[in-house]
Amino acid sequence: MSTFTAVKNEGSLKSGCEFNIRQIREDFPILNQSCYGKSLVFLDSAASAQKPKSVINAIKYCYEHEYANIHRGVYLLSERATQMYENTRAKVKDFINASEASEVIFTKGTTEAINLVASSYGETALSAGDEVILSRMEHHANIVPWQLIKERVGIEIKIAPIDKNGNFLLHEFEKLISSRTRIVAITHASNVLGTITPVSDIIRLAHAAGAVVLLDGAQAVVHSEVNVQKLDVDFYTFSGHKLYGPTGVGVLYAKKKWLEKLPPYIGGGAMISEVKKEKIIYAPIPEKYEAGTMPTAEVITFNESIKFVESIGMDNLIKHENEITNYALEKLKKINSVKIIGNPKNKAGVIAFTVKGVHPHDIATILDEDGVAIRAGHHCCQIFHKKMNLSATARASIGVYNTKDDIDMLCKAIENCRKIFDLK
Ligand code: PMP
Repeated sequence: MSTFTAVKNEGSLKSGCEFNIRQIREDFPILNQSCYGKSLVFLDSAASAQKPKSVINAIKYCYEHEYANIHRGVYLLSERATQMYENTRAKVKDFINASEASEVIFTKGTTEAINLVASSYGETALSAGDEVILSRMEHHANIVPWQLIKERVGIEIKIAPIDKNGNFLLHEFEKLISSRTRIVAITHASNVLGTITPVSDIIRLAHAAGAVVLLDGAQAVVHSEVNVQKLDVDFYTFSGHKLYGPTGVGVLYAKKKWLEKLPPYIGGGAMISEVKKEKIIYAPIPEKYEAGTMPTAEVITFNESIKFVESIGMDNLIKHENEITNYALEKLKKINSVKIIGNPKNKAGVIAFTVKGVHPHDIATILDEDGVAIRAGHHCCQIFHKKMNLSATARASIGVYNTKDDIDMLCKAIENCRKIFDLK
């Protein structure tokens, strides 16, 4: 169903990559509109990416032709919907190279996937005094669930530091590991600095100490190849909506041994084999972790978003994003009073910045009037912002559809903002 096929670049929009950026942009109807009379420049894909036609069409098609509740019906439509739902599971399995489809659990998103692990693992495998290591860059989705477990179980939370450029400090992390370290839960890519963390080393060091590892892949899954078997990671989490897919669907990958051992997160229909007054027998994995009616149409449609990414090729996607990100960094650096936050060695297409003398919310509001959509705030990373003595930052993030023209518009809008605030 994907409407995109990769072709050689025509260079018309200064892409320079091996794909046709014009064709890609045509695949995203939402981009073809104006805001306040200006062409929309969408630079907030780290919050949520826009959807290609294939995904939009697939959800409509599903409701018109394929929709019924899954796993329960014995009639054709339900069987077909069940098959489509399971096809997505098989697709995700291949996409992240899990060894079995049953290691893929559908959730509402990254947040729910991390809460699942914190709850199911935290309440059974952790006891008072056990340690969890997070990093200074974590999104609240990978902090608050552990704080909840701390309140319930009495665990300790340690924070691995980063340097002033936003690089993860592996040797400092290593020093934090102790005989009480049970789980290391780290972002694979920061949603503020763009830092891609050295996950292979983190996993190696954690495993050597007998700890398990959860990676928050919400940002990384769009910016790097994810191979869970090669990484040997215990838990990997991501959201469909940042991967050009629908909202309401996310993934928890977990090694089979954990899914079989841990208790379910929530209880209800579809996750049981038998319910007696005195005893519950859980359904086998993956159903054990998918209680109630799941976001059926969204999961079915999520298949199309992975196909969309595959049709472009992750290599092309990364190459394009790096090119646009580097162009943006170079141009932003040249604007007086703009400060880019962090300069990590390995970076995804996320750029946090400040403009001296202008509050980030004012920057975002003024840019919006020029049709440029960026984000401002703490980006659910208050621990990081506090450490940097910042209450908020502005953030531009790059998606597959962004061009150098978009960056030129961003910089022009920032110049306009500087004029309004009479900055030198
Ligand atoms: N982790 C990171 C690094 C994120 O960027 C986000 C989304 N901003 C999340 C977790 C939470 O994802 P979701 O809201 O889709 O659950």
